[in-house]
Amino acid sequence: MTLLLLGTLGEDERALWLKHLAAEMPGETITDQAAGLDPAEVDVALVANPPPGSLQGWPALKLVQSLWAGVDRLLADPALPRDVPLARMVDPAMSQAMAETALWATLGVHRDAFRYQLQQRTSTWQPWPQRRADEVQVAVLGLGEMGGTVARRLAGQGYRVAGWRAGSPQNAVSTTPQHRPALSPVPCCAEHAGPESLPGLLADADLVINLLPLTPATRGLLDARFFGRMKRGAALANFARGGHLVEPDLLAALDTGQLSHAVLDVFSTEPLPTGHAFWTHPRVTVLPHVAAQTDPRSASRIVAANVAALREGRPIAHLVARDRGY
Ligand code: NAP
Repeated sequence: MTLLLLGTLGEDERALWLKHLAAEMPGETITDQAAGLDPAEVDVALVANPPPGSLQGWPALKLVQSLWAGVDRLLADPALPRDVPLARMVDPAMSQAMAETALWATLGVHRDAFRYQLQQRTSTWQPWPQRRADEVQVAVLGLGEMGGTVARRLAGQGYRVAGWRAGSPQNAVSTTPQHRPALSPVPCCAEHAGPESLPGLLADADLVINLLPLTPATRGLLDARFFGRMKRGAALANFARGGHLVEPDLLAALDTGQLSHAVLDVFSTEPLPTGHAFWTHPRVTVLPHVAAQTDPRSASRIVAANVAALREGRPIAHLVARDRGY
């Protein structure tokens, strides 16, 4: 049987993936050349933002393994076979990278680094009072693989951390193979669950870090109403998906001073178009979707473990619960 790599990858990136996948699975046949393959030979699709429709016509598929953590685009593709298990990438190396990015953004807000950077442009010598870390309240939206790691790292650094999760009963208990086991609690932070707890969380936070999956329930969550509930002068970091954010509402909140700064890694259109207001806004820091990049070295080991599980009839790790959308 054959493992088929499908995705929107640059030539170098593709070669790197093939090299590391082959090194981790020496006994497997792995290719990125769909043309000419016997469709009945392909039982695993390894996918990285594949063009819509590319998962159609592989009747022997037994596993779709995403090489990315977020699966919102895959789930939106009508060609994704409904009856084939879909696993997403969960790599501790990636979660640690996200924790580093979140710590950098938190320090930037806490120690006024973004503000001093702006003042430097106008040769402005204006010191601001220094706060201790335990005087800074951070709200982490989403306490999954990324959010949980971020919350622990920030709490370890002395910040006051509160976290938000869905927490509905079907999420807390593994009922079917499609439902993953409950994530371990994040003991370092105050946990809140459900929509009714969000306003209180936002009202207290000096910085809100979004690490939610993009689902029908979370699309467009970061809008004018959301910003209106935040503490005046607080900051936002969006490291999850561009679809969470209503971009004109953020610009309005920054321009009125309701929000002091935004660190944005993800956008509704990527790459962020030339001329977009975010590029030159003095209170926006733009990152080119690099908060936590997949590292083919460690990620290939994780793929290999799931392929081995499939071959040996063991449970596949990190299955997506399609009814929940993450
Ligand atoms: P995950 O492990 O699936 O965790 C999702 C978390 O969000 C869970 O705690 C879940 O609650 C919570 N949640 C889901 N729906 C919710 C709702 N409606 N209300 C409140 N909480 C809700 O996801 P992950 O791997 O941490 O990924 C998080 C995000 O980071 C994704 O959007 C992913 O695409 C993005 N990401 C970005 C980058 C980057 O470089 N920028 C890299 C990797 C990942 P329960 O715990 O109760 O289920």
